[in-house]
Amino acid sequence: MSKHITHWIGGRPVATAGAAARRGDIFDPATGRITGHVDFAEVTEVDQAVAAAASAFTEWRTASVARRATVLFAFRELLNARKDELASIIVSEHGKVHSDALGEIARGLEVVEYACGIPQLLKGGFTEQASTGIDVYSIRQPLGPVAIISPFNFPAMVPMWFFPIAIAAGNTVVVKPSEKDPSAANFLAGLWKEAGLPDGVFNVVHGDKVAVDRLLEHPDIKSVSFVGSTPIARYVYETGTRYGKRVQALGGAKNHMLVLPDADLDLSADAAVNAGFGAAGERCMAVSVLVVVDPVGDELVEKIKQRIATLTVGPGCNGDSEMGPLVTGQHRDKVTSYVESGLADGAELAVDGRKHAVTAEDRDGTPTADGFWLGPTLFDRVKPGMSVYTDEIFGPVLSVVRVASYEEGLALINANPYGNGTAIFTNDGGAARRFQYEVEVGMVGINVPIPVPVAYYSFGGWKASLFGDAHAYGQDGVHFFTRGKAVTQRWLDPSHGGINLGFPTNT
Ligand code: NAD
Repeated sequence: MSKHITHWIGGRPVATAGAAARRGDIFDPATGRITGHVDFAEVTEVDQAVAAAASAFTEWRTASVARRATVLFAFRELLNARKDELASIIVSEHGKVHSDALGEIARGLEVVEYACGIPQLLKGGFTEQASTGIDVYSIRQPLGPVAIISPFNFPAMVPMWFFPIAIAAGNTVVVKPSEKDPSAANFLAGLWKEAGLPDGVFNVVHGDKVAVDRLLEHPDIKSVSFVGSTPIARYVYETGTRYGKRVQALGGAKNHMLVLPDADLDLSADAAVNAGFGAAGERCMAVSVLVVVDPVGDELVEKIKQRIATLTVGPGCNGDSEMGPLVTGQHRDKVTSYVESGLADGAELAVDGRKHAVTAEDRDGTPTADGFWLGPTLFDRVKPGMSVYTDEIFGPVLSVVRVASYEEGLALINANPYGNGTAIFTNDGGAARRFQYEVEVGMVGINVPIPVPVAYYSFGGWKASLFGDAHAYGQDGVHFFTRGKAVTQRWLDPSHGGINLGFPTNT
């Protein structure tokens, strides 16, 4: 049966109005079949969602932090109890394997748990007797209705980088998920309702640029949290700030993993395969460039080839699959075109993913022949300047660049326009310490290939990987979703009266 995904506004499903409503196809990437449609919002539906969020803000901002924390705890329990169901939804639209979908939910849950501590997180400072008879204190207040615009690759986790803290801090939310895998957001909306969140605090509008543009210009939207590709992130940042909004826009990546000759090469090969091909390379923290300091390049490439040969590529719902398909046929074709351009540019195709075997049927017996497949692909002796090196491919294509020294590897990483994640593999603590100091990248792993920070630190890259000042979640998230106020108070004391036109000084 074909599904029809609608918006979620004011606590109920709302379809795009009119007979000529625009819709997008939803695919099962493992079989290539269309499984449903998602409504695309026009300005009318976005305005309706913002109006619901604006109206709910009046009540929600006055709810005590204790009540807000209680709703957060209830949401946490519901999501934890139903995570398998949500993982299956993600698998059916994104294509990643079930365990990986559970992994993204677990990382989203971490942020929900962090936001449960909102009474502690919102505590301000207090200085008694800052001046004679005068106290000064700080408070943080919510912004109002906020927008969250998310990419296809983490349909649950990326919205959860933002909305738990936004809601806990007293804001109301309009989420615009990726049109490629829209159902997870509606599932989460249902859980919020069940958890007791008042209608209108959490809204979802589906769609494309029309919906995004309306959110960016809407006067009642106070902030925008965006995650997606760099050109759109830059556009969202420039447009949103032009309309006077607070904006954090996280963009694309080209993450390098530097392997020094003293590294444990088995650990390094495992890490390169896990971080390069997990989720078919469709992760913003995927390793896409392996920078190897020779003479260990040949040995490392050989170890990676051996591991790739054992990988099971198949539908995400099949228990034995380790890597699923790409999200759409169009994206698969784009990624495959990079394999061709790498060859044309003279890189050595060490493993050709186009030839990797794919499991023939999904768990239900549906053939996978029309799925959006590309197996793990390895290029060796890639040179900076080749398109497989310069472009974010966002697929299972790992490029090996050989360098002669740590300094050459570091210079390559620092010259890259992106600065999302990076990793160094070494047994030399001094070299690792030097790397974390010298590298111009926002998130650094030391013998850890995908260094996504825990919820009480913040997630964010440097350079073209993030526009704006605030990283996602952690203390940055609390600051982003609140405004600071400083209060200076004096309670009348008859001994402190009198006229004084001078600027207040503290005595
Ligand atoms: P995308 O930029 O195509 O889409 C992201 C969002 O923007 C979607 O909701 C989409 O509907 C909307 N959008 C698309 N085109 C638009 C336009 N012209 N105007 C306004 N809105 C538009 O990204 P994607 O393909 O969904 O996701 C993959 C990208 O996201 C990769 O570049 C990846 O690196 C990046 N990403 C980055 C991070 C990070 O933390 N830095 C995390 C996840 C994904």
